[in-house]
Amino acid sequence: MKLLIASNNAHKIAEIKAIVDDFFDEVLSLREAKVEIDVEESGETFADNARIKAETICEMTGCAALADDSGLMVDALGGEPGVYSARYAGVHGNDAANNAKLMEKLAGVPEGERGAQFVSAIALARPGMPLVVTEGICRGHIAREPYGENGFGYDPYFIPEGMTNTFAELPPERKNAVSHRARALDALKKLLMEEK
Ligand code: IMP
Repeated sequence: MKLLIASNNAHKIAEIKAIVDDFFDEVLSLREAKVEIDVEESGETFADNARIKAETICEMTGCAALADDSGLMVDALGGEPGVYSARYAGVHGNDAANNAKLMEKLAGVPEGERGAQFVSAIALARPGMPLVVTEGICRGHIAREPYGENGFGYDPYFIPEGMTNTFAELPPERKNAVSHRARALDALKKLLMEEK
């Protein structure tokens, strides 16, 4: 069976390919498969958005499709920015503006109340087979100042539980060992292995 990965982010594609390669005859990104589909992220949860993307692409192409959706949930903000993580400040993908808004909202929040989690949902849709959805969570807290140059998004402000550095200060392999996406992919791998 051919699998399409619904992402154009090279890092994500490499991370996903490494996990799912063994379970499919061929694994391609949408770009590699020359498939142009832009699915609106209209769901209320990460799992909804991943499912909508995977099912839409699977139905339109007849291939298996894997999609993910992820973001940051801050305890003191009732789970914000959540599914709006990429467009928190209004413009999709403007990390600097999103981080500035986050800092503004957390300005008066004291040290012990800055808990947060990154969440990743991954959905796999295959023709004629039941949908599979997994989720991974990485708990941590939000720093007051940005540290580090690696990664993307909210990485310079997120300190994972049990560590003193932000995600942006860690080399990619250390982030990938504990990240929300790695945990969701691990759960997916376990399910696929049970099917074998
Ligand atoms: P998407 O799942 O690629 O749509 O990502 C949604 C948004 O969540 C990104 O634009 C980032 O703002 C944020 N995000 C998701 N995963 C991470 C991460 O690992 N580090 C930092 N920000 C992330």
